Amino acid sequence: MERYSRITEKNQREIVLLRAFPCAWGKCTFCDYIEDNGRDREEMVQENRQVLSRVTGAFGVLEVINSGSCFELPEETLEDIKETAQRHSIGRLIFESHWIYRKRLNELREYFKIPITYKMGVETFDYEFREKVLNKHAEFQSAQEAAAYFDSICLMVGIKGQTKEMIRNDIRQLKAHFKHGTVNVFNNNSTAVKRDEELVKWFMEEYQWLLDDPDTEVLYEITDFGVG
Ligand code: SF4
Repeated sequence: MERYSRITEKNQREIVLLRAFPCAWGKCTFCDYIEDNGRDREEMVQENRQVLSRVTGAFGVLEVINSGSCFELPEETLEDIKETAQRHSIGRLIFESHWIYRKRLNELREYFKIPITYKMGVETFDYEFREKVLNKHAEFQSAQEAAAYFDSICLMVGIKGQTKEMIRNDIRQLKAHFKHGTVNVFNNNSTAVKRDEELVKWFMEEYQWLLDDPDTEVLYEITDFGVG
């Protein structure tokens, strides 16, 4: 498992994959990366400390991901991130958060005292598919509702049952309402959710232009950020 990487193309930054307590939701049908969650605080804090020791501040931006939401990181790890950011003059942090924590986003902004970009896993704006098939438990009805809290979102494309029209609408909403987006092309994992190869092929041809869009990152493999 690689836990430190540098993104040197679009949106240059360092990125760390840290360990945290179990995802508070933990029931998305397509997700098996919560297996990285833990309950041994001391072990996780030590492991995270090792990973954070590799951060140099090279780009002034640090992204922290943790197979869940940043609010599930141990407090000691939050302190270590703060200390790392101060030591290396990091001016912006990027965290992930589930919709259920939307009212708490400012807590960490006040704690870190530097700008934070929060990414939320939307997966799709199709309410039925998101809630009934993916079981995301993020019950906003519109992109505007989500954009009131988050300026960066993650979409998932290429799942059996998804349609081209859903994906077209998702990309339209992303570009219309959010500053930044990550599009994850779904890869089969240990869950029952399956990849639709035809849909993936169509997406990669139709949305080739997204690869050059400075505000959108397309992850063809889950490890494309160099961690995982
Ligand atoms: S909220 Fe994220 S980490 Fe938690 S189960 Fe869903 S996809 Fe997995």
